[in-house]
Amino acid sequence: MALIVQKYGGTSVRDAERVMNVARRVTEAYKAGNNVIVVVSAQGDTTDDLIEKAAEINPRASKREMDMLLATGEQISISLLAMAIERLGCPVISLTGWQAGFRTDSKYSNARIKTIDTERINMEIDRRRIVVVAGFQGINRYDDITTLGRGGSDTSAVAIAAALHADVCEIYTDVDGVYTADPRICKNAYKLDDISYEEMLELASLGANVLHNRSVEMAKKYSVKLSVRSSLNTNEGTYVKEVSKVEKMLVRGVTRDNDCARISLCGVENTPGKAFQVFDMIAKSGISVDLIIQSIGNGKTKDISFTVAESQLDIALKLLEEHNSVINAEKITSEKDVSKVSIVGAGMVNNSGVAAGMFEALYDAHINIKMIATSEIKISVLVDQKDAERAVSAIHDKFLSK
Ligand code: ASP
Ligand code: MG
Repeated sequence: MALIVQKYGGTSVRDAERVMNVARRVTEAYKAGNNVIVVVSAQGDTTDDLIEKAAEINPRASKREMDMLLATGEQISISLLAMAIERLGCPVISLTGWQAGFRTDSKYSNARIKTIDTERINMEIDRRRIVVVAGFQGINRYDDITTLGRGGSDTSAVAIAAALHADVCEIYTDVDGVYTADPRICKNAYKLDDISYEEMLELASLGANVLHNRSVEMAKKYSVKLSVRSSLNTNEGTYVKEVSKVEKMLVRGVTRDNDCARISLCGVENTPGKAFQVFDMIAKSGISVDLIIQSIGNGKTKDISFTVAESQLDIALKLLEEHNSVINAEKITSEKDVSKVSIVGAGMVNNSGVAAGMFEALYDAHINIKMIATSEIKISVLVDQKDAERAVSAIHDKFLSK
């Protein structure tokens, strides 16, 4: 008998038919003799709809009230799924995040799980009940409801799997697993049988919308065996595991992220401390910076460019302009229509030819590179947004064509 955590995303429970489909899958696993804990997301676009509803009333609603509202989406799903499982004749109970013992910090709308008090879940499991838990939510030290950030149900599932030492955590979605690129923009993309935690973490942070990145971090930290698979068929999905156990391939995936914007500070005085001034100020106002380049100072001045999320561009620009008396840039420019295209692969460590190959693919496709950043297992470039999809395909075909 195994202890299995299954997580179903919004598309997998979007309507009555899909909820029944999930109920059948859950009860099959249960009837095979396993203990099953199911974590669910809100149905379909429910969370987006709730955000819109709130905006109609108060576009600047407090985060506490937003969490109160958004947590209801998952509460609908757990009750409906429990009813579907009841109908199939299996013992079941649904639990909200706080009933299931999720304690978080107090950061409304983006809370982190601190502990899970597993007493209640364990008691239900001991009674051989299927336990259906609301993802994405917990309770903080003021007994207020908190949510874990968009896509956070994955993290709820991995956290339960870690806390209960589950044998496996299965993440069910509407695709077959983790692909080498988004199949909607790259027709040659294919599913990977396995991927390392590190690679998955990079892919998740770089815009491959498969898993919440904190869920991967947590899976790695607690060695949770993760599998990503479809709720609509029985194909083997993608296993996420230790690096030494995955197939060795130089490049494993290509992603693009349209949610970025470039800011350049041109003609900044070429003296020590400038980068510190700029990025300290930006960091203190809670803006995260991604790619950074600084030109070599030619004489008196140098240029500093970096990217931020598109939604933070205006705040960042305002901040920089307000403080330009300190920074003293001759000119501040920005650009919204840019995308970050990245390749990821644990096998890239110590392989210098990969960067050249990526740049060659872009050159062959006549795509101009605006910025470059590298780390041990990834290379990112910034390109015009209009070129991004072509860039993904060109790079994919260079490294990953079968
Ligand atoms: N319902 C939440 C969202 O849409 C959490 C999740 O689906 O994981 O972001
Ligand atoms: Mg998701």
